[in-house]
Amino acid sequence: MRCVALNILEMTYDEFLMAIKDLGLERYRADQVLDWVYKKHIFVFEKMTNLSKEHRNLLARNFSIDLPEALDKRVSPLDHTTKYLYKLQDGNTIESVLLFHEGYATACISTQVGCPVKCSFCATGKSGFIRNLSAGEIVSQILAIENDTNQTIRNIVYMGMGEPLLNYDNVLKSVRVLIDEKTKNVGVRRITVSTVGIPDKIVRLSQEGLDLNLAISLHAASNEKRDQIIPMNRRYTIEEVLHAAKIYQENSDRRVTIEYILIREFNDFDEDARRLAKLLKGMKVFVNLIPINPVVSNMERPTQWKINRFKEILLESGIEAEVRYEKGADIEAACGQLRIRHLQK
Ligand code: SAH
Ligand code: SF4
Repeated sequence: MRCVALNILEMTYDEFLMAIKDLGLERYRADQVLDWVYKKHIFVFEKMTNLSKEHRNLLARNFSIDLPEALDKRVSPLDHTTKYLYKLQDGNTIESVLLFHEGYATACISTQVGCPVKCSFCATGKSGFIRNLSAGEIVSQILAIENDTNQTIRNIVYMGMGEPLLNYDNVLKSVRVLIDEKTKNVGVRRITVSTVGIPDKIVRLSQEGLDLNLAISLHAASNEKRDQIIPMNRRYTIEEVLHAAKIYQENSDRRVTIEYILIREFNDFDEDARRLAKLLKGMKVFVNLIPINPVVSNMERPTQWKINRFKEILLESGIEAEVRYEKGADIEAACGQLRIRHLQK
């Protein structure tokens, strides 16, 4: 009988250790293999030279290390943001981005092929939903980027294609794999999960005992406006989302980030800023104001004056806020743009 090779990137350290022991190998062999994979970026057993030929063959018969193939890569001449279009084993494509934030290499990774939430301003939402990524497919994006660039990724943001909390189990497993000191050893406080806001999942996440950073994509200060751009708001109101965010903040003692895309003459009025300040009063939050990266013709950036004014109103109300431009706008780095271009070919 032919056994199916297990993808190592799908496995936590404990799972891999168990599998190694099942093969009759010593415990330290697991550490050696993971060291090759996660620290030295060696993805073929043949090259793992501190293992005997016999052990390398045994491992190759039982395990695989599945990395995605880069179909496209664009590097921004402005800020070196690098965007990849990756092909998965089944031919589906996803995007991953390497960017430099405060001097650290940060990876922005995808959690789904497409996204079922269908926000009206988002290129990923426009392309429909195909499937969830497995934990290994999420982890593999980090290794593929590191392998290509020789950069050690220190920060990870789950802000690529897809809604992480609609793929909860695989996202959580990928986090557990990435933070293990035997594997990638990323500090959990250097990982941010961005969500459109699914209250019960946010509360569940707060009970996992992980100090993950949470970012909530709010983008509007009234349900009437949020309904127009985020269909899921009809199911979970702003108040419900913020209530869950508050629970997360209290349980984790982490400041929650509120993301607010600024869209000209839609959500950039003084009244929106005041409403937002009122909604967030008393919460330990930080607001990221993101001038929209236009992907549809009727949504544009506000003027610089308007953007600054919005921020000033928040600051005057005691809400911490900063304006963040999406990196790599010159290389179509808005989530989902590159993939759409390829799908249209
Ligand atoms: N689904 C999750 C994570 C992926 S989207 C979420 O919505 O939070 C990551 C971030 O990119 C979100 O804050 C999203 O609102 C933002 N985004 C999507 N399209 C954008 C655009 N055209 N311009 C600026 N930001 C955008
Ligand atoms: Fe999905 Fe996030 Fe895009 Fe909305 S913004 S469609 S939730 S990826």
